[in-house]
Amino acid sequence: MSDIIHLLPDSVANQIAAGEVIQRPASVLKELVENSIDAGATFIQILIKDAGRTLIQVVDNGKGMSETDARMAFERHATSKITDAADLFSLKTMGFRGEALASIAAVAQVELRTRRAEDELGVFVEIAGTRVFKQEMVQCDTGTAFQVKNLFFNVPARRRFLKSDNVEKSHILTEFYRIALVNSNVAFALFDGDDEMFQLPASNNKVRIENIFGKNAKKRWQQQLLTIETSTNLVSINGYVGKPEFAQKSAIQYFFVNGRYMRHPYFHKAVLLAFNQMIQANESPNYFIYLEVDPQTIDVNIHPTKTEIKFENEQAIWSILSASIKESLGKFNIIPSIDFDQEGALEMPTSMSIENVRPPQTNFNPNYNPFGTSAYKRPALDWENLYGNFEKKTETIESMPNWQPESIKPEIISSVPEEKQQIMEISEQRADNFQFKNRYIITSLKSGMLMIDQHRAHVRILFEQYINQIENRKALSQQILFPEILELSADDVLIFEQMLPDLQYLGFDFEPQGNHSFNVKGVPENVGTGSVIDLLLVMLDKAKTTAEDLSTTMHESIAFSLAESSALKNGQRLSNEEMSDIIDRLFASANHNFTPDGKRIITIFTHEEIDKRF
Ligand code: ADP
Ligand code: MG
Repeated sequence: MSDIIHLLPDSVANQIAAGEVIQRPASVLKELVENSIDAGATFIQILIKDAGRTLIQVVDNGKGMSETDARMAFERHATSKITDAADLFSLKTMGFRGEALASIAAVAQVELRTRRAEDELGVFVEIAGTRVFKQEMVQCDTGTAFQVKNLFFNVPARRRFLKSDNVEKSHILTEFYRIALVNSNVAFALFDGDDEMFQLPASNNKVRIENIFGKNAKKRWQQQLLTIETSTNLVSINGYVGKPEFAQKSAIQYFFVNGRYMRHPYFHKAVLLAFNQMIQANESPNYFIYLEVDPQTIDVNIHPTKTEIKFENEQAIWSILSASIKESLGKFNIIPSIDFDQEGALEMPTSMSIENVRPPQTNFNPNYNPFGTSAYKRPALDWENLYGNFEKKTETIESMPNWQPESIKPEIISSVPEEKQQIMEISEQRADNFQFKNRYIITSLKSGMLMIDQHRAHVRILFEQYINQIENRKALSQQILFPEILELSADDVLIFEQMLPDLQYLGFDFEPQGNHSFNVKGVPENVGTGSVIDLLLVMLDKAKTTAEDLSTTMHESIAFSLAESSALKNGQRLSNEEMSDIIDRLFASANHNFTPDGKRIITIFTHEEIDKRF
């Protein structure tokens, strides 16, 4: 019997291997543009047709290739970027695997025109399904132009696997953003057929971010980005985080390391934690964070399509990152500027008590609610417009579009200076306050009207007070006349024992009775009026759920549940002094915008908004 094992022909082997690297048009774009970056290009033009199915063209002004290299470039494992395994640990280029061009040529029809500055003539190579059809000397610009036509022309199964044009285009944009955001010194143009999608001049990272995501709302983007900057032996961190009020459900979040996009769920947690309690629970902050580390200390994924990167000093970098974000949130004073108004305040004589206020008898519409809509509207990001540009193109490509790189002059834009942040000023003699429905405190601001949820405000105030007490171990306790017994199950007692020190710092006083029971002899001053045992059980419950959750500590959980139960309730009538006291203490707290569990405390109605209603 004859042997049955044989080597696959190169064309088949390449097609199989290509599947790893080239999954869709976006992968081609990524590989070509990364090659242009590696070639030192300062200007890269991209054209796609039919979502990249029929054409992906990348033209750069980089260093070009020699005649031999132009041919060699398509060989598998042919690269100019590394020579041995050790080089993998000092990578300065995007590419290093030497398989992208081989893969692309295995599954598409490729034309390459390239010329080095020192050569008179350039090279033209035409290759499809790994077969070279033509190679000749041509006149062309310095740099490199790739045209990749009819992707998967010889692999129908792959072609069928592609999604709708819009989906493929969104993959293309994803790859484009990942490269453009971290190469802001390179100018880019991106065309979808005849539509110009992006025209990005060389600039700095901040301007690049605004040019990509700001679209029609550049001002807002300029206002939302806070700079972060730290430099240590292990890592230097640069970049921007969006202010908490710009947080959104599907936030825009990017990490880069040494000029390369990466996904890093662990560092992502560090960012979220720095924003802890500043944003609503279901929202997330925008961020663009650029790390630079010694290439020896990271392991760039060997897999061509994976973006996870391993760090040697992960924990230390985690802490540095978190601290540096917290610092800039603090430094740039994320508190909105609020000036309490004295003139033009709600016109109410100070002597007149709230009880005497009567609704007008005539023309009174009890259903009219001036506060029916929220003052704060998040501007819709420009996604719809972005995708609105996409329309199906049926024309087929004949010739290379006639682009003049000169027609798009890269220009340097200097960064917009950090705008001066105003600091909140609370006036000593604030105008009188008004309580609406025994629930909201309303007061007048220079810029409009401020409305505060009294319960939530008080939760925030007490929460910070309790945290402070726990941390400074300052208990204010009051003994109870008739001690109550707390009986716990065997597992609950384990958690309860972890809570004990904090509870004692807050003013609780317990006497262990054995058998998982405790005699409750003292409670914190001013604690709510309900049952102490119920309160302790609620606190225990919260502590249980936070036990695994990284984002809150035991302190915070205990302080929060106590604050929740002790805070004044909605429906409780307040005197003018009490309202003033709440306002003063709220604005003295670290975060007057949200409760510890992310609920909104205040809303501002600007003059314009109010005027518009009349
Ligand atoms: P890698 O980027 O991993 O080296 P590729 O298959 O992407 O592998 O490219 C192979 C080689 O072709 C590169 O190492 C580089 O020398 C050359 N090359 C590819 N694209 C360009 C370009 N746009 N300009 C100059 N040289 C290029
Ligand atoms: Mg490459």
